[in-house]
Amino acid sequence: MEYARRIQNLPPYLFAEIDKMIAKAKAEGVDVISFGIGDPDQPTPDNVVNKMIEAVQDPSTHSYPSYEGMYEYRKAVADWYKRRYQIELDPETEVVSLIGSKEGIAHLPFCYINPGDVALVPDPGYPVYKTSTLLAGGKPVMMPLKKENDFLPDLTKINKDDAIAAKLMFINYPNNPTGAVADMDFFKQVIEFAYKYDIVIAHDAAYSEIGLDGFQPPSILQIDGAREITVEFNSLSKPFNMTGWRIGWAIGGENIVESLGRIKTNIDSGIFEAVQYAGIEALNNSGDSIEKMIKLYERRRDLLVAGLKKLGWKVEKNKASFYLWVEIPEGYTSADFSAEVFKKTGVFLTPGIGYGSEGEGFIRIALTVDDKRIKEALTRLEKNNLIF
Ligand SMILES: *Cc1c(COP(=O)(O)O)cnc(C)c1O
Repeated sequence: MEYARRIQNLPPYLFAEIDKMIAKAKAEGVDVISFGIGDPDQPTPDNVVNKMIEAVQDPSTHSYPSYEGMYEYRKAVADWYKRRYQIELDPETEVVSLIGSKEGIAHLPFCYINPGDVALVPDPGYPVYKTSTLLAGGKPVMMPLKKENDFLPDLTKINKDDAIAAKLMFINYPNNPTGAVADMDFFKQVIEFAYKYDIVIAHDAAYSEIGLDGFQPPSILQIDGAREITVEFNSLSKPFNMTGWRIGWAIGGENIVESLGRIKTNIDSGIFEAVQYAGIEALNNSGDSIEKMIKLYERRRDLLVAGLKKLGWKVEKNKASFYLWVEIPEGYTSADFSAEVFKKTGVFLTPGIGYGSEGEGFIRIALTVDDKRIKEALTRLEKNNLIF
C-alpha cells in the first residue's frame, strides 16, 4: 500500500533516532543525564491536582465537552489576559480552547493555506510549524534566525514573491530553541508586514510566563491593530508543569478564532471538562507557583552557565524560556558534537540541526535537570577534557 503524498512529504523525525540512541545506552547500563527534554521535571501545583480530583468525581464532567471550550474556561483565559497584559478579550468570540497549543498550531494551516500557498516559518524552530504547513499542502518558506540579529527574523530579507504568496507567518517568542526574546518594536514591524502583504500572524507564546531576571515577555496583541490579523497560542503546559494534561488556547481576531474552531469541531470534541476545571484553577489561583518556577530555572541556568564558561564553552544566559542555545566549537557538526559528548560522558545535548538547517553550529540545553545532576554533568565534561 502506498502512503498518501501528504505524508510521503513529511521529513523524518530526527528525534526518534536520538531517543533510540539514548534508550540503547541506558539498556547497556550508562547513567544518562539528558538535557534534551523540553518538558518540565517538576509536578503540577497541588491546588490544580486537587481541583482535578474533585472535578473527576463529579459525573457532570463525564460527557462530551462543548467544542469551543467551557465558557468558564474561556472566561478564565480572558481574565488572565486582562490581569497580565491589560488586554480585553470577548470569551465568546475571541478565545478558543485547545487540546494543547500544538493541536491548534497543527490545525491552523488548514484554515488559511490552499495547496501551494506559502507559510513563513522560523528556522531553527518548533517542527510543527513546518510539518503542519506541509500537511495542508502548503509551501513552508524558512525565515533564518541568526545570532547577529538576536535570533529574530529579518523581515527585510524576505523575498517579495514569497511575501505576496504568503498566507501565514509563524513566530515564537520567547523562542524555542534559541531562548531569544522579542520586544514590542519587533512585534510592531511584524504587524506592519502582515498588513502590507495580507498575512495572518500566528504567535506561539508557550514560554510567555518564563521570563527570567524580571523580564516580562509581551503579547503581540498589545500592538494596536494586531488583533484583527493575529492568533496567539498559549498553553498551561510550561507555566504550570501540565504538559501531560493537554490544555491550551488560542486568542485573537474573531474570524481567525472562528475558523480554527470550525476546523476543530470537525476533528475533535474538545477537552475533558475536569481538565478545564483544573485549568481554571491554574489560571485563577496559581499564587506563587510561577515565581518559584522562575527562580528554579534561573538557579539552574546560572549554575550551568558558570560551569560551562569555566570549561571555555561559548555560552550566554538566556533571558527567557528554559533553554540555553550554545555555539559549539569549530570543526564539529552539531550532530557529531552531541554524539561525541554523549559517547564520552553519557550527557545528552540536543543537536541544533534537529530544529532546522540554521540550527547547525549550536546545541540546545534544556534546564529541566536538577542541580545535583547539573553538577555531575559538569564534572563529567571536565574529566573527559571537553574543554575549549
Ligand atoms: C512546549 C511547546 C508548545 C506547547 O505545547 P502544548 O501542546 O501546549 O503542550 C508549543 N510551542 C512550543 C515552541 C513549545 O516548545
